[in-house]
Amino acid sequence: MGFDVDVLRRDFPILERTLDGGAPLVYLDSGATTQKPLQVLDAERDFYLHRNAAVHRGAHQLAGEATEAYEQARQTVARFIGAAADEVVFTRNTTEGINLVAYALGNAGRLGPGDRIVVTEMEHHANLVPWQQLAERTGARLDWFGLTDEGRLDLSRTDELLDERTKVLALTHQSNVLGTVNPVRELADRAHASGTLVVVDGAQSVPHRPVDVTELGADFLAFSGHKMLGPNGVGVLWGRADLLAGLPPFLTGGSMIEIVEMDRTTFLPPPQRFEAGVPMTSQAVGLAAAVAYLERLGMAEVAAYEEALTARALALLAEVPGVRIVGPAGLADRGSAVSFTVDGIHPHDVGQVLDERGVAVRVGHHCARPIVKRYGIPATTRASFYVYNTPAEVDALVEGVRAAQRYFGV
Ligand code: PMP
Repeated sequence: MGFDVDVLRRDFPILERTLDGGAPLVYLDSGATTQKPLQVLDAERDFYLHRNAAVHRGAHQLAGEATEAYEQARQTVARFIGAAADEVVFTRNTTEGINLVAYALGNAGRLGPGDRIVVTEMEHHANLVPWQQLAERTGARLDWFGLTDEGRLDLSRTDELLDERTKVLALTHQSNVLGTVNPVRELADRAHASGTLVVVDGAQSVPHRPVDVTELGADFLAFSGHKMLGPNGVGVLWGRADLLAGLPPFLTGGSMIEIVEMDRTTFLPPPQRFEAGVPMTSQAVGLAAAVAYLERLGMAEVAAYEEALTARALALLAEVPGVRIVGPAGLADRGSAVSFTVDGIHPHDVGQVLDERGVAVRVGHHCARPIVKRYGIPATTRASFYVYNTPAEVDALVEGVRAAQRYFGV
């Protein structure tokens, strides 16, 4: 193993805390948001202590230093995903990145009646609702890949779904509920053959496995800093340079203009064209520190470590009668979000018993309501692992599930 989790945990003081009732925190909700290491907090603090100013403005030294820190962060993020710096747009989060693409495509008049937008039934609402809205605004039709019983994309309609009428294919790389890793490359190649743009939701993949945009084969990739050890309020939209250059802005205002007359305006090239207003500067600097932290661990090691935790969770949960995994039960093409139901106990009750034992999981539809509907369940309990979790924490999850069964007499 490439890193020592006991040493790594010292970087995350929050993991030392105990909860009301005295139980130590077992944080298994990194799919929702991750904890932040001291290195990230220090980077933000250092920025405010020594370099804070509004970027891209002002002729003074501090503004220059702040701009340099911000642009350096862009380069760090670009390197992390194998992109060029001018292809990296800082956003607030994944949600904003996807909205940016949807609105810019709409503003560009790239869709109309007779066109189609294709999504999948496993999308987070962030990669579904913006496309529903775009379809509504433009008269395009929304269609989608359904799911197999195992929690994978049903690819039987691929030929029909990916033809020249489809202008956009928007899909998640890794499901936040099922854990499924989708065959993005294969689908992107199919989509491109008929001129379809491919937008990938990387919120759950970029933090957890090596992602290189060239290998991914997509046109746009959105992800969030707060799910990869970084600060809240900063995310990334990567777009292919030629595509970004051809898109009109989403938000408009300061920092993204070239020349403004009273009756018209010309816009800067990307990425500035898509970053209206004073950007989230300390957050970008913090995100760069998070990327540096992950690069030190090595993304292949991160993926391998999480796979070992996931293997343990799947194996131990399989031994508990009445527990059903919602999503792939094996390790092939899956990540470390493990959703399950427990026969005879509502997921919220499972979550409550776990919470009383200090085990923080998420219960509900996880902002992907069509998934629970597809499987005919009200909700799931989801444990999601990250680099700071230990095998003992996986065991605490499984013991908590058994405790819930004892408590409810099932
Ligand atoms: N997509 C997926 C797959 C997610 O898991 C999430 C966050 N749960 C999002 C999009 C939205 O991320 P954010 O709220 O940071 O925009």
